[in-house]
Amino acid sequence: MMDIAQQLREQAKKLLEEKKVDLVIGFGEGTELARTTPVFVNNPEDVAVLTWNPFCANNLVKYLTDYSHEPGKVAVVVKGCDSRAVNRLIADNQIKKEKVVVIGVTCPGQLDWQKVAAKISPGVRLKEVTDNGDSFTVKTDAGEYKFDKKDYMLRRCLVCENPNPVVADVLLGKEQPVKNYEERFAEVKALEQLSTEEKSAYWDKQFSRCLRCYACRNVCTVCTCRECVFDQMKPMWVSKRNNLSENTAFHLIRAFHVAGRCVDCGECDRICPVDIPLRKLNQKILKDLGDLFDAPTPGSRPDLVSPLGEFTTGDPEEFM
Ligand code: SF4
Ligand code: SF4
Ligand code: SF4
Repeated sequence: MMDIAQQLREQAKKLLEEKKVDLVIGFGEGTELARTTPVFVNNPEDVAVLTWNPFCANNLVKYLTDYSHEPGKVAVVVKGCDSRAVNRLIADNQIKKEKVVVIGVTCPGQLDWQKVAAKISPGVRLKEVTDNGDSFTVKTDAGEYKFDKKDYMLRRCLVCENPNPVVADVLLGKEQPVKNYEERFAEVKALEQLSTEEKSAYWDKQFSRCLRCYACRNVCTVCTCRECVFDQMKPMWVSKRNNLSENTAFHLIRAFHVAGRCVDCGECDRICPVDIPLRKLNQKILKDLGDLFDAPTPGSRPDLVSPLGEFTTGDPEEFM
């Protein structure tokens, strides 16, 4: 069978040649195998830059909003978790489905580059990666390494609900079983067991390390405001000062802004340069929305509205 990267290139070439899209957003090779990077291809002659491997971590759906007001159509490569963001952006009226061609790739899991880098010697070049089912074999110029998925995948992949894209105009790869390695909300449940003081101390410790680099906001597909509350100067809702109080305000406001829309793609968590476990914060809201309103993960179906944007007469009203 032709490998996924080659199939992606052929699909992209066809879409561009037949003028079905003006741009393909996919993954390209970076400085080495593990350093994949988003690439934007608008010429069928350039599709060779497209690649696919278990280091294609980014959620590329984020970029669709940059082209939503451009004429023409855009194709985007998505994994299962990313695909939820397509549905969510359509529901938020941020993109129009008729302007997007979704190239879905089924996904058996993504390796966490940081964990892999900690295992291999510095300076060693990665050459090839093979999926063995429950592990990956990575060939390098200094020999082969085997990485068990349950220890070396991205955290989001250990509890993946949608290894198969929930929306796709073109679907590549073999259908993948839903194969969770951990209980989905185990970390949130562990935090819920703490006392109020312990929870407060836990998050104080995390938020006090925040650099306010805003990478978590910038990478988030459902953070779509053209003018963000954190950039506003008049009025200045949250000061730019980097201290625990302002950092906490930043994180809580952002968590509430994406509540009911966060597609649990885990990108904010992955991208944080100081490893603040933001996913636990967003997953707490996701878990509560599930417990209170039986709400599925946002974006997991095309017809889903935000659980906080509608009501039914049977909703609990303990807060009233
Ligand atoms: S969460 Fe699922 S779809 Fe997303 S990268 Fe991991 S295994 Fe793939
Ligand atoms: S990415 Fe991390 S350091 Fe940067 S603003 Fe977000 S939480 Fe803070
Ligand atoms: S808040 Fe984080 S997990 Fe949720 S959609 Fe945004 S980047 Fe993804």
